[in-house]
Amino acid sequence: MMFDRIKEKLEILADAAKYDVSCSSSGSKRSNKNKGLGNSDGMGICHSYTQDGRCVSLLKILLTNHCIFDCAYCVTRQSNDIKRAAFKVQEVVDLTINFYRRNYIEGLFLSSGIFKDADFTMERLIRVAKKLRLEENFNGYIHLKSIPGASDELMREAGLYADRLSVNIEIPTVSGLKKLAPEKNHSDFIKPMNKVKNEIIQYNSEKKLIKSTPKYAPAGQSTQMIVGASGESDREIMLSANYYYKNYNMKRVYYSGYVPISNDPRLPSLGSQVPMLRENRLYQTDWLMRFYGFNVNELLNQQFPNLDVEIDPKLSWALRNQHQFPVDVNSAEKEMLLRIPGVGLKSAHKILQARRFRKLNYDHLKAIGVALNRARYFIICDSRGWETRDLGPAKIKSLILRNSIGKFRKDYSSQLSLF
Ligand code: SF4
Repeated sequence: MMFDRIKEKLEILADAAKYDVSCSSSGSKRSNKNKGLGNSDGMGICHSYTQDGRCVSLLKILLTNHCIFDCAYCVTRQSNDIKRAAFKVQEVVDLTINFYRRNYIEGLFLSSGIFKDADFTMERLIRVAKKLRLEENFNGYIHLKSIPGASDELMREAGLYADRLSVNIEIPTVSGLKKLAPEKNHSDFIKPMNKVKNEIIQYNSEKKLIKSTPKYAPAGQSTQMIVGASGESDREIMLSANYYYKNYNMKRVYYSGYVPISNDPRLPSLGSQVPMLRENRLYQTDWLMRFYGFNVNELLNQQFPNLDVEIDPKLSWALRNQHQFPVDVNSAEKEMLLRIPGVGLKSAHKILQARRFRKLNYDHLKAIGVALNRARYFIICDSRGWETRDLGPAKIKSLILRNSIGKFRKDYSSQLSLF
């Protein structure tokens, strides 16, 4: 009976948690062969990456899907007619430990709807983490959601037990938030974010002086934005992401394509496609900003407020900036190598190493891992001359798409399709 109730809660609260993409998709399946608790069937198990790049399996659940708020984009919203459930603190602790002992998971990702108020809910989330750490000696990974509006004291405590904290900003602009979640206040997100940022800085600097200073949220903080719910352009989304990276030392901003869940006239209608490809292009743009030295305005500006979904954002930028090419791979600075479509971080590093010993040609570049199907239109090297100099952006784009084998490639033809 008890087992069935916990199983039912797990089904409801793991399903409700799947809309949070701050840890990646679910899909782990393990069967329970001895009738014990913990037949995951993929339910509630997701994968995430730790600070050192390890992929870990997490139990991903909500503490409750009750909520006092009515955010239009959220399946947990108060007015939605769904089955509700709530775990007790001890139940989450027991589930985590049981799954952990069976090697199903390496950690916990715990979020929640808002029970009564922000502090009431946050305090329960912290109790789970605290019990796991202090009573169960649990050293696995813990990611706690911070509840918007939670007090500074609770945010300080949360970071002492969690590896990562995150407040989901959800809607990228203040105007979008007003439209879809009028009860919420932008400052309610900013306050806990600011507190976490300041605590991380303070604990890190104290640790330099006093070795025994405890760790505070060692995996930092992250946030998530929903894409396609409130009509923002890609530029607005990336400017917003850039703001959070710069001002709140975010480790990651996650982008989650809006899944239509209601017939609300403020939102895309039921049955509209989830903007998966757009989400993918935003992640690529995010990567270019963080690791390739691009700034938002180079990739997206008033003239080009949205990303070209057919091609990746670096290629799109290169086609608009043909005057910066060709780049001589045998002499260019690293910064410029990184701007060549088809050259990644690893291949740029390998080019710099390899060219110390020889002049590089197409064969060398291919062996290094450069995607020549894109790069060859933008480089010169120790092979044939730069034969594509007379090609315009539209022609290059069509040639690349025609030869592309990317997972999002549509059958591409530069001819108009008439039939
Ligand atoms: S406060 Fe959070 S859980 Fe509640 S309706 Fe809004 S987004 Fe959903």
